[in-house]
Amino acid sequence: MRCPYCGGLDTQVKDSRPSDDSSAIRRRRICPDCGGRFTTFERVQLRELVVVKRSGRKVPFDRDKLQRSVETALRKRPVEAERIERLVSGITRRLESSGEAEVSSEAIGEAVMEGLKGLDDVAYVRFASVYKNFREARDFEELLGHLAAGAAQASAGEVTPPAEDPPPARRPRSRAS
Ligand SMILES: [Zn+2]
Repeated sequence: MRCPYCGGLDTQVKDSRPSDDSSAIRRRRICPDCGGRFTTFERVQLRELVVVKRSGRKVPFDRDKLQRSVETALRKRPVEAERIERLVSGITRRLESSGEAEVSSEAIGEAVMEGLKGLDDVAYVRFASVYKNFREARDFEELLGHLAAGAAQASAGEVTPPAEDPPPARRPRSRAS
């Protein structure tokens, strides 16, 4: 396994053990060239999945890429690494066991959104804003509105109507003549 820091090929396994949910073998490795430490995971791959992108281009499914995008959305959020691991494993297994050899990138995005929704609101909004590539601010406000409504329902007896901003006063700009 090549060292991700210096590219050295001579890395050594220091320790092997099952991951928390026993779905993988976690190997801690060390690079004798630069002293870098990193961890690899060995997992069962049920089948080869192909992702069909929006452009129609097909690429092999990449679990690490999925994990990175989930981790990016969850950056600095109070969610344990183990739960992230389980979310990514769960999505991957669902995709692999769907019976289809090809899966659309949309379907993966929806699965991630669904998973993040139950995990962390902030991560959900972050991911959705990137994934849905919001062009209109209205989409974003709508999403935040849904979240706010959910939070309001959660705190019983404290339901407040959504604040409505008055339309901005617009005065026709007088042009200097
Ligand atoms: Zn190295």
